[in-house]
Amino acid sequence: MLAVTGLPAAAEKPPATAFIDVNVVPMDSERVLTGQTVVVEGDRILSVGPSAKATIPRGATRIAAKGRYLMPGLADMHIHIPVEGSDEASASKEFWLFVAHGVTTARVMIGQPEHLALRDRIASGALLGPTLYVASPPLGIKAGTLPGVPELKTLDDARRFPSKQKKAGYDAVKILDDLTLEQYDAIAAGCREAGIPLVGHVPDAVSLEHALESQASIEHLAGYIEALIPADLRRKPDLRFRDILGKLETARIPDLIVATKKAHGVNVPTLYFWSALVGSDTPEQLGTRAGLEFVPAKEKAAWVEQRTKALARMGTPPVDYSSYHAVRAQITKALSDAGTTLLLGTDSPDFYNVAGVAAHEELDRLVAAGLTPYQALSGGTREAAAFVHGEKEFGTIAPGLRADLILAEANPLAGVATLRTPVGVMVRGRWIARPEIQQHLDAIAAEAK
Ligand SMILES: [Zn+2]
Repeated sequence: MLAVTGLPAAAEKPPATAFIDVNVVPMDSERVLTGQTVVVEGDRILSVGPSAKATIPRGATRIAAKGRYLMPGLADMHIHIPVEGSDEASASKEFWLFVAHGVTTARVMIGQPEHLALRDRIASGALLGPTLYVASPPLGIKAGTLPGVPELKTLDDARRFPSKQKKAGYDAVKILDDLTLEQYDAIAAGCREAGIPLVGHVPDAVSLEHALESQASIEHLAGYIEALIPADLRRKPDLRFRDILGKLETARIPDLIVATKKAHGVNVPTLYFWSALVGSDTPEQLGTRAGLEFVPAKEKAAWVEQRTKALARMGTPPVDYSSYHAVRAQITKALSDAGTTLLLGTDSPDFYNVAGVAAHEELDRLVAAGLTPYQALSGGTREAAAFVHGEKEFGTIAPGLRADLILAEANPLAGVATLRTPVGVMVRGRWIARPEIQQHLDAIAAEAK
């Protein structure tokens, strides 16, 4: 159809796409629906049903998917857009890494005004990237360390911060470690008044039980390890990780799980990120982590320097942190067994932790901790959507939901590895097949050299 001007008419109704004869992993429960046809129109799923009865709109792009598996795109619920990478060109590269690895939703955990603009441009379809949720600039670090971090001169400043963030358009208020109990309570009260969730770390001055009552999500299992430190040791000034190795009172884990369950606490364990951050792996050992070919050489050099200095401070022999990470895995498994919400989160891009790639590493860690693939994937699909009240938008496969999809070679419920190299990814109804994914990844790797 031609418009009067002779130019092709603006796509009022973009052509539909149909995945034919595909196995659907809807992630609404642990099941696979075989022999389905899924039709996508615009940015939405139009229909899901047995292929024999499917109506495929005329002119639809047909994707022959027999034997393959279609699941919802993944949500990485803890990412960052570095301040210096917040311009659209830099952020676009990061977004491609996410999308290429099937991450179609992401929660930005330290927000800047530029991120709100990126979020809105993605939502309008003007920019390709994962649908973003953006937390505020963080409280709990020195004022001015990052743009938008104010000085809290009075408790009123703390209490008023959340409503200002809500007005500015942020989706949550982010906190880090350095807050007094009074400041924390003032921020939490401000969040309740403004109707904006409080998310982030658990400051040292705040007990886990107290944080569970106030926070929508707790990152990095903050507060859990601390709660297992023997009381006499806890009073020690400048306590370091190495001081607590082998001394954690793991018999008390069940109490923490009960408290979490009672408070409907939500955790984002970030096991993979933490295993790089807290450890004595050498830069050579860390250099074998996945996806580093996508990281600019300059950034990698900075990581090498950071770790080299940390090892020098540690002295010889280097401290073995494996027991500490084993306790974190044990807590994660116990939280999952109790049916509490564990969200997929990576803290990427940061320290040997590559956007998109890290989501798959984290899934591996969750499975290694004892979660089933379905449990691990739930925290990156259905449960992530429920957490942001987005069940009608993403996280499962059903008519009306956004067409954020991963087409995989094998059944992800039988093993998550198949999701690392998807046959294709659909983001907001845009189909990106393997060759196009590979082309973008190759370009990012070439530029990183
Ligand atoms: Zn983070």
